[in-house]
Amino acid sequence: MKANLPKNEPKMLERWNEMRLYDRIREAHKGQPIYVLHDGPPYANGPIHLGTALNKTLKDFVVKSRSMSGFDAPYVPGWDCHGLPIEKKVDDQLGRKKFDLNPLAVRQECRKYATKYLNLQREQFIRLGGLGRWERPYSTMDPQYESVVLETFYKCYEEGLVYKGLKSVYWCIIDKTALAEAEVEYEEHTSPSIWVRYALTSDPAKIDTSLAGKKVATIIWTTTPWTLPASMAVTFAPDAEYVALDAGEWTYIVAKALAQQTIEKCNLGQAKEIASFPGARLEYATFTHPFLDRQIFGVLGDYVTLDTGTGAVHTAPAHGADDFNTGVKYGLDLHCNVDDAGILRDGLPEYQGQQVFKANPLIVDLLKSRGVLLGLEKIEHSYPHCWRCHNPIIFRATEQWFISMEGKLPGGGTLRTRSLDEIRKVKWDPSWGEERIMNMVAGRPDWCISRQRVWGVPIAMFQCEGCNDFLNDPAVNRSVVDLFAREGADAWYRDSAQKILPSGTKCPKCASTTFRKEMDIVDVWFESGSSQEAVLGHEPGLPWPADLYLEGGDQHRGWFQSSLLCAVAAKGGAPYRSAATAGWVLDPQGRAQSKSLGNVVDPVEIADKLGAEIVRLWVASVDFREDVMSSDELMQRIADGYRKIRNTFRYILGNLATRDFEVIRDDQAPPTINTIDSTFDPDHDAVPFAEMHPLDQYILLQAAEVTKDVRSHYDSFTFHRLYHRLKDFCIVDLSAIYFDVLKDRLYTSAPKSLARRSAQTALWRLGEALVRLLAPVMSFTADEVWAFLPATSGRLESVHLELFPAPEDLTGELPPGFDVATMEHDWSVLLSVRDEALKALEAARAEKRIGSSLEAQLRLAASEGVYPVLERYRDQLRYLFIVSDVILEQAAASNGDTGLAITINQAPGRKCERCWNYSTHVGEDSTYPTVCERCSAVLGEIEATAEAR
Ligand SMILES: [Zn+2]
Ligand SMILES: [Zn+2]
Ligand SMILES: [Zn+2]
Repeated sequence: MKANLPKNEPKMLERWNEMRLYDRIREAHKGQPIYVLHDGPPYANGPIHLGTALNKTLKDFVVKSRSMSGFDAPYVPGWDCHGLPIEKKVDDQLGRKKFDLNPLAVRQECRKYATKYLNLQREQFIRLGGLGRWERPYSTMDPQYESVVLETFYKCYEEGLVYKGLKSVYWCIIDKTALAEAEVEYEEHTSPSIWVRYALTSDPAKIDTSLAGKKVATIIWTTTPWTLPASMAVTFAPDAEYVALDAGEWTYIVAKALAQQTIEKCNLGQAKEIASFPGARLEYATFTHPFLDRQIFGVLGDYVTLDTGTGAVHTAPAHGADDFNTGVKYGLDLHCNVDDAGILRDGLPEYQGQQVFKANPLIVDLLKSRGVLLGLEKIEHSYPHCWRCHNPIIFRATEQWFISMEGKLPGGGTLRTRSLDEIRKVKWDPSWGEERIMNMVAGRPDWCISRQRVWGVPIAMFQCEGCNDFLNDPAVNRSVVDLFAREGADAWYRDSAQKILPSGTKCPKCASTTFRKEMDIVDVWFESGSSQEAVLGHEPGLPWPADLYLEGGDQHRGWFQSSLLCAVAAKGGAPYRSAATAGWVLDPQGRAQSKSLGNVVDPVEIADKLGAEIVRLWVASVDFREDVMSSDELMQRIADGYRKIRNTFRYILGNLATRDFEVIRDDQAPPTINTIDSTFDPDHDAVPFAEMHPLDQYILLQAAEVTKDVRSHYDSFTFHRLYHRLKDFCIVDLSAIYFDVLKDRLYTSAPKSLARRSAQTALWRLGEALVRLLAPVMSFTADEVWAFLPATSGRLESVHLELFPAPEDLTGELPPGFDVATMEHDWSVLLSVRDEALKALEAARAEKRIGSSLEAQLRLAASEGVYPVLERYRDQLRYLFIVSDVILEQAAASNGDTGLAITINQAPGRKCERCWNYSTHVGEDSTYPTVCERCSAVLGEIEATAEAR
């Protein structure tokens, strides 16, 4: 590509850096209304990819376009630096060495790792042309940031939203940590599927008299045999109908809706229904555990569904959310016998000491040997996996810190109800986002915010050695926040509790003076959710709340939600006024990009090969609210589109300036092209709209419409619409029509003639408008073009310091009585007649009756419908059709639908050497014997001017 973007873009970046462009833009907009897009922090553990490039470039479009619309639009990029993926990578790098390191040293290694990738990503994002406060980003590992995370936690604690409790949580046995909802992904997994007999030990007659004296049992179904050692109850649906099936030796109780299926799966042959009763009848019935000496209770739960299983649900409170709640309700044993590595402890020798998934077949064998296994299959199902390590996860009851969704907030309502209220006030784009996050917040469990790792912000609580209570002293809390702000969270790992605590701190309950530090760290989602408080609201140019959050669609359960909960808990309101979401980046077959599929499009590679501008244009070309497609081939197509837009500017600049942008070498143009000085000084040479050539007036009116549309697309972030509007305008309206027709006037009219100055004025106004309208998207090219446009007084150094054009900037105030509607109607007629004329010329060329169109004389018979318009523009027609002569006649009768009859003949006369038009007057002027009457006049004028000089 001539533009040589890969080579020129870095130079442009250097220039922007030297002139401190971002700061200059902020200064230029100081005092204007502020518009804050708050950046969601990407994770600092690898190079950028097309998804993060899409995200950052969209944000850059928003920031630059808001700025050019007259807002003060700051952009402070941020990074998410704490958390498990980095700690795991560092663990892997350290290998055995990590056992010799204390947490402080591990944290230092993690910090090094995060810093490396923060710097790499920053460099790569800058390369893509985004402007922002890159030299002073926010990072979740900054001391100030860490102190705000802790402060937000303390606020929640002091408000009574935080509790520490035993709870069944998602647990990764590989990473040995609790996982948040947002950290769980569902993937296919094969599990054993088993049906197990639980024999009834209470009196069957109490369930139904017809069961008196029978050997009764229920059948549970599970896909996690390893949870059976923790089985404490069987849950029945209270209102569902259950039946007793006589199967010979045993009579089995299962849900009626699942009876047939159970008979098949458990091979119960000719089992007959002998009784039916509601599930509520089974509450407090007792059963015996299939292999442990334990009494199992019948309990009730509304969550029991009748689509799979037996309607009798094995309940292990330590290993499921519903199970846990049922366990609390019925006072069951909540104790967990699975350790943090997923090893079963304190059980029978058959499975004790085994990891849960390895214990499955052992427990199946155990059930067989006890004669209680009624059915066994394999099942492929969607099962929760860890999003970090992609291993299947388990539910496990552990001691964790929680933020209660039902906690009361000052000012009324609970964290849940107030968050739901705030969601309604936010503008969600696309609008389905509202219902999505609404449902998520309405249905979510309490927020488990603790993790058992070291790379993060510690939950800096002091536990009394005397009574085990946690200290809740706002003054102490403030002093720890100050400590973190000064020295970072490392201080928690370096200093003892006694050193950190103000001297003389005593437990208010037992007066003990010794405390131990809580060593859990806070969930990274709580950290990034605190970014609104860490970044906004502390300086005048960055107020809280933000106007916009713009992230991927998965953030309804991630950052949008964690930010909302943190802000509602600590500040009482949503941290954003609107939230927009982008789709996923896929390949043209709709598959995710992956190294193994070989379909990865690397934005850095595209920037090096084709230019960052191509990445930016690609971002503008897609509707980001949907999933977006990309491939190397698509990028190549975008590069072709880029060239066409660039050619528009080449044409404009080539006819306005003598300085060499990329001078047009157009083989179709007459050789005189470079003999005319194309300098244009707008301050002296511009022609008022009223005096301009009608075609120039028309194209400026069109450009004013484009300006209006493009600005409204920027306002609604529909970048793909503005991209296509601008591209079509450049390629169709300008290049294919206007510029084509204009060539004759620009290349042959006298340099200072009104005809030529009118054309140059139109080109200048078009250039000025287009370069501004494209600046947020084509940031490099726009600023390059900017430097080549004619200098005017008060012109700023970079297009990025300017404002968008207004539609009126194209035309100025319209002359009194100017009839826009008539002009638009006239030109729609003229351009459709032009289409017909071009077709006829093409046919004549194909028949070799003419060579170039200038060899033609075009005879046009027009019907009443279009004749008056053509008659009005009679003098213009030959230029519009690019022929040497047009004979216009009124058709006697209508000639079909178009009302046109076109005949092409060889133009009379000789070819003018200068303008290539044919004229019968060539040779009449003895001074200029080889040119036409038009050209001889022009050449005379040029000569006279030269002599005068
Ligand atoms: Zn994991
Ligand atoms: Zn105490
Ligand atoms: Zn001529």
